[in-house]
Amino acid sequence: MASVAVRMKWIDCHNHLQFFGAGAAESMVAAMVAAGVVRAVVNATGEGDWEAVAALAAAYPERIVPAFGIHPWQAQEVADRWQERLRELLGRFPQASVGECGLDRRVAAPGVAVQGSVFLVQLRMARELRRAVTIHCVKAWGRLFEALAVEAPPPRFLLHAFGGSLETARRLLPLGACFSCSGHLLQPRQAAVLEVFRRLPRERILVETDAPEMLPPPEQVSHPLPENRNHPANLSAIGAGLARALGMSVGEFAELTSNNARECFGW
Ligand SMILES: [Zn+2]
Repeated sequence: MASVAVRMKWIDCHNHLQFFGAGAAESMVAAMVAAGVVRAVVNATGEGDWEAVAALAAAYPERIVPAFGIHPWQAQEVADRWQERLRELLGRFPQASVGECGLDRRVAAPGVAVQGSVFLVQLRMARELRRAVTIHCVKAWGRLFEALAVEAPPPRFLLHAFGGSLETARRLLPLGACFSCSGHLLQPRQAAVLEVFRRLPRERILVETDAPEMLPPPEQVSHPLPENRNHPANLSAIGAGLARALGMSVGEFAELTSNNARECFGW
């Protein structure tokens, strides 16, 4: 009996392809496409990598959608008039979103007050320009709700690598939040967060690698790299693992998360 090969199509809603260096991009994008990863949102982290992300988006317009922003860990390094340069960059890339930005109380410096002022500017810009915004939030949920009360988010925004509680998720849902899960969630110590994802509305779930960070367990590493770096082409193996963990078929999960990514980012 002839078997029909089902071709999955995945969208990586959050990675940092620029961290691998410009010379690595061609082979990495080819590996992603060969693995069924048809698109990736490549997130900048500060002014120092905005142009690298812009260059990737210009070189691979079918495959890479950029996000430009200031990561909370870099909030103290902003130069004068960074807002103008960010706005200009978003104008150059109409499909770009704002990110990665947010709040992180796990790091000692910069403090959340510094992080918060840079975050609020980005929230406002995303809303004004009608762009999605990708939020990194670690141990700062109270601060996040305060920020969202000061600057309302755009209609759709993404909590990347969401690690909060079900109660937190339920407060974020009516505001328009989407939530992405990485292969990290398949580590045994992440069982509680996986349980939160099982209870989220399916139409708000996206999938990401966060490459080169967040290496999944060995079974999901289809493309090993030195120094435990996570290859963005691992997404299809990660997605298959997450589909099983969430009680969905792999095809159903690929289609669901790809549709949700298009909806969240407004493509
Ligand atoms: Zn990230």
